[in-house]
Amino acid sequence: LDQIDALSVKSFPLCMRQLHRALRDSHHLRHGGRMQYGLFLKGIGLTLEQALEFWKKEFIRGKVDADKFDKGYAYSIRHSYGKEGKRTDYTPYSCMKIIMSNPPSQGDYHGVKCTNTVIVRCPFRHSDPELLKQKLQSYKISPSGITQVLELVKGMHYQLACQKYFELTHDVDDIGFSLNHPNQYFTESQKLLS
Ligand code: SF4
Repeated sequence: LDQIDALSVKSFPLCMRQLHRALRDSHHLRHGGRMQYGLFLKGIGLTLEQALEFWKKEFIRGKVDADKFDKGYAYSIRHSYGKEGKRTDYTPYSCMKIIMSNPPSQGDYHGVKCTNTVIVRCPFRHSDPELLKQKLQSYKISPSGITQVLELVKGMHYQLACQKYFELTHDVDDIGFSLNHPNQYFTESQKLLS
């Protein structure tokens, strides 16, 4: 968990960074959030055993006890690793899939309320621009960087806004690739930081 905390700050795209924070703060994520985040974690190399341990450790800090976790949540984690049901080995969601999905409705918080912000699927696509701005400020992004990101969001260039966020947080001028997957974001970040 500690390792994922550190990675989430350094190398996770904003969507996954927010989901991780929401999970750590509330010790819970709704199904949609668990799928988006869980498959991302699988994509960065978490084994099934590690995933079960990771989710359980966090959930039992909240309202779910170990027994309820084993009965209610472990199945869907094993399912996403292709160990239950039709045994489909699910792949992590691409940016397009995340961006094109509907934002969660009031009754179906995909994430949770976290520091007054409802966690959304792709923050560049589904966040209120003012909340996005506040989030970027809290991450110490420069005012000119924030303006550039928000301009791209305004033009509906969500993945380019995410690329800009990558450049700003990794101190590079041009990432030299076209971003289309949260796991690609992670891999490229790790390459730069290693
Ligand atoms: Fe996540 Fe893709 Fe949105 Fe970036 S553009 S925050 S990687 S969904």
